[in-house]
Amino acid sequence: MPELNAIVTQRHDLAPGLMIIRVAPLGWEFPPFKPGQFAVLGLPPEAPRSASSLPEEVPEKPAFIRRAYSIASSSRDKEFLEFYVVEVQTGALTPRLFALKEGGKLWVGPKLTGLFTLDQAEPDRNLVFIATGTGLAPYMSMLRTHLAQEQGRRLTVIHGARYSRDLGYREELFHMERDNANFSYLPVITRPEQNGEPWHGATGHLQNFWKTRPVEQVWGARPTPADTNFFLCGNPSMVEAMVALLQADGFTEHTKANPGQIHFEKYW
Ligand SMILES: Cc1cc2nc3c(=O)[nH]c(=O)nc-3n(C[C@H](O)[C@H](O)[C@H](O)COP(=O)(O)OP(=O)(O)OC[C@H]3O[C@@H](n4cnc5c(N)ncnc54)[C@H](O)[C@@H]3O)c2cc1C
Repeated sequence: MPELNAIVTQRHDLAPGLMIIRVAPLGWEFPPFKPGQFAVLGLPPEAPRSASSLPEEVPEKPAFIRRAYSIASSSRDKEFLEFYVVEVQTGALTPRLFALKEGGKLWVGPKLTGLFTLDQAEPDRNLVFIATGTGLAPYMSMLRTHLAQEQGRRLTVIHGARYSRDLGYREELFHMERDNANFSYLPVITRPEQNGEPWHGATGHLQNFWKTRPVEQVWGARPTPADTNFFLCGNPSMVEAMVALLQADGFTEHTKANPGQIHFEKYW
């Protein structure tokens, strides 16, 4: 079993089963990373599960549990990594992560990796970042690291969640929008009827919201394959539906062999 080599230095609970945590290394340094990359977090099977969790399917031979988590902090922050995590109540790792308090120990893999980075897009392209839930995390790292230096191109975040309280980083994104004329933030919720607070913003699943041409309305021009790249992250159903819609508009999936304008990371 690997040694628990990191400690939770901050924990912010946004809503039941949704948290932002900061993690610092114990006696080593996190390696450099590119915004959009992920770390692997881990805990042993004997680590306690949260009170909100449901019974899990216990494997015959319980092994150390490891899962990937996109880094939400800026790559300039060297002392900690930030993660935006949702609890899967029957899951193996997240109920154990949600049982950790500030000061709790966990394992962070020594390599920070992943191809879902801005290197995939030419530097002059407009960017649309689309996420469900915690799929926002890699964009927070990209924006926190690079937005202040972005001058010419347009950047838009479209973030979908069930309720407005689940729209993590909402205040920070509104501030970014206020301070950067080339940046826009479009939050969307799927359950306005049960939302605790009044909601005057957009509603529905992102693939349906997309059909209202929201980016065209903000930019005053329709994004085209000649000028815009799309990043999609989170729920695989959203990713698949958005890829199909974008392909119908002439955008193509990016691969190493065939560079295109659609980049995605499916969380499961
Ligand atoms: C590259 C990469 C980056 C990721 N980054 C993040 C991140 O920043 N934040 C984050 O919360 N998760 C992230 N994930 C998902 C994460 O790795 C785990 O799969 C997730 O936390 C569930 O782990 P678990 O052991 O609790 O559940 P498991 O026992 O592994 O159960 C997996 C099941 O949980 C469900 N599930 C997994 N992820 C989610 C989710 N985010 N929302 C709802 N249901 C889910 C699916 O039904 C999946 O089949 C990422 C995954 C990948 C591949």
